[in-house]
Amino acid sequence: MADKRDYYEVLGVDRGASDSEIKSAYRKLAKKYHPDINPGDKDAEVKFKEASEAYAVLSDADKRRQYDQFGHAAFEGGAGGGGFDFGGMDMGDIFGDIFGEFFGGGSRSRAQGNGPMRGQNVRTSVRITFEEACFGVDKEIDITLKEECSNCHGTGAKPGTSPETCSKCGGKGQVVFTQQSLFGVVRNVQACPDCRGTGKIIKSKCTECNGSGYVSKRKKISVSIPAGIDNGQCVRIRDKGEPGINGGGRGDLLVEVLVSRHPLFQRQDRDIYSTAPITFTQAALGGDVYIKTIDGEVIYNVKPGTQTDTRVRLRNKGVPSLRNRQVRGDHYVTLVVQVPASMTQEQKDLLMQFDKAMYGEKEENSTSEEEKTEGKKKKKHFGKK
Ligand SMILES: [Zn+2]
Ligand SMILES: [Zn+2]
Repeated sequence: MADKRDYYEVLGVDRGASDSEIKSAYRKLAKKYHPDINPGDKDAEVKFKEASEAYAVLSDADKRRQYDQFGHAAFEGGAGGGGFDFGGMDMGDIFGDIFGEFFGGGSRSRAQGNGPMRGQNVRTSVRITFEEACFGVDKEIDITLKEECSNCHGTGAKPGTSPETCSKCGGKGQVVFTQQSLFGVVRNVQACPDCRGTGKIIKSKCTECNGSGYVSKRKKISVSIPAGIDNGQCVRIRDKGEPGINGGGRGDLLVEVLVSRHPLFQRQDRDIYSTAPITFTQAALGGDVYIKTIDGEVIYNVKPGTQTDTRVRLRNKGVPSLRNRQVRGDHYVTLVVQVPASMTQEQKDLLMQFDKAMYGEKEENSTSEEEKTEGKKKKKHFGKK
């Protein structure tokens, strides 16, 4: 990981590049290094993966922001924290997006004959609160899941009949054709259009599932969201995606977690930031103040003579690590001294008394101030010359 290249360098764009610049840079590289164009070329494959990873991060506003801030560490866990599951990213979406127009539907639907093929992943999202992200939560989500049709037991054929071998592909499930394309003559293997890659044709379709072998059902699925999850990260639930083809396993369900903003707390990786008001008196004399944290209120002893915007650290009051919830970030609190907006005459008089005691009589005060500013002006003047 240490010698990993900078994502911007990989794509050959500068750090301020727009989304469309990033997309077009990736498109160029992907066209050049795509495994379909460089069969068996390991170097091209490595370059293709590198570019795809860079694109996956830089094309996503959230991930790009994390990367800009923390570099590769943003996605490595360890010092950087939260961690980022590249497995949770559906590269198929990216390829579909980028290659849709070149590769006829993208790499994930590439024909694989009529062997077992894993079902596609299904994506959904769930919204949770800031605190739920910090401490973990179990959520129930509603999804539409395809289940094996009980009428035909997944064959798609009317009970009592069975699917026939496809005559177009002879049961192989794929057809080969050559095509003139941007990259020269490409030998294309595609799923058989007649049987859609299954190698079988259903003459009399099951009436329950209309020949698909599956029926869609609304299902409640419980998702266990781990403590420490951050906005935009995915939880993968195995085997709750689309059903496989020809005996292949189901795809996964990828649940993107959307964390709502908190009115007080901002999160950056495992650390939490907030501001807390303190009175002028507390700032001057010191004393205990109550500070809200995700664990509830804590008492913090403000030192005498605390200036406004002083930042204090509450150790281990931040967000738990995704990997080990015993490890927590810190909570940084900016103490903001509140100046009274309105006062009674008595309070004003007291403050005037304080002012006299502190700074002396008014006339003296203003003269000395004038002198000071005069002095500064002169200095500046000389400095310029
Ligand atoms: Zn059926
Ligand atoms: Zn066929």
